[in-house]
Amino acid sequence: MVKHWSVPVTEALKADGLRIAELATSSTPGFTGDKKLAQELLTERGKALSVLQEKLYANGRSGDRRSVLLVLQGMDTAGKGGIVRHVIGSVDPQGVDHAAFGVPTEEERRHHYLWRIRKALPRGGQLGVFDRSHYEDVLVVRVHELVPRAEWEPRYDEINQFEREMTREGITLVKVAMFVSLDEQKKRLRQRLERQDKYWKFNPSDIDERAYWPAYLEAYQAMVDRTSTADAPWYVLPADHKWYARLAVTELLIDALEKLKLDWPPANFDVAEELRRLDQS
Ligand code: ADP
Repeated sequence: MVKHWSVPVTEALKADGLRIAELATSSTPGFTGDKKLAQELLTERGKALSVLQEKLYANGRSGDRRSVLLVLQGMDTAGKGGIVRHVIGSVDPQGVDHAAFGVPTEEERRHHYLWRIRKALPRGGQLGVFDRSHYEDVLVVRVHELVPRAEWEPRYDEINQFEREMTREGITLVKVAMFVSLDEQKKRLRQRLERQDKYWKFNPSDIDERAYWPAYLEAYQAMVDRTSTADAPWYVLPADHKWYARLAVTELLIDALEKLKLDWPPANFDVAEELRRLDQS
């Protein structure tokens, strides 16, 4: 058992049977410590994550086709950006493949919705991060009826099929849906309006979106219910406490990387011979 966790994070955040509308967004499932401890652990576990990621990268350089893809979903202010900065920020950027998905461009709209996603999939050895993803096509698209139901409804099965292919090709998916309460969102939006260093994060439409909160919860519930599979389960992350969210995602990534049982790639040269040549040079 990982220190200071009563159950493994993969158990604590499992989506199975969970009612998202009833989620205690300020809870810290599985973690037995407080904020201070979480912050200390984040540094320590960030180092462990960084070593594992370096091994993944090293193996990728040696031809290993496996990769890990963190998929982050969450409503505005849920803290996706903070995860990228504080969790992914602790590893070597050379091995990170980050992609953010906003409103589709004109070119993207001319293609199938998975077109832009396929293009952004991590190559062997990479730690991929999706800030939003193909799931927007069953979230914002469903909530705002951007396409008719007959078009978005089959997407759940299509996404499961797509992710099965990804898994077969060596991509380990870590799917995390982050939730803050409506009140916590208000607090975070207010901060964006009160601090000059946060204006850049504010989008007036974020306030309009608050009216659709129940519809989003419903869409998130359907997403989790219909696309949580054995190979690519959803983790539902209460995110009012940023310190918890960041530590939990760090642990999820460590778990995914440990399961790959990575070792340092062996030398493809004669070490003794190279040492001898070095001495003589
Ligand atoms: P963020 O709000 O995460 O900082 P952006 O402002 O660049 O990022 O874009 C995010 C917006 O793009 C969100 O409102 C999201 O719902 C929207 N979006 C993402 N994918 C799609 C999609 N497939 N169709 C319509 N809107 C989308």
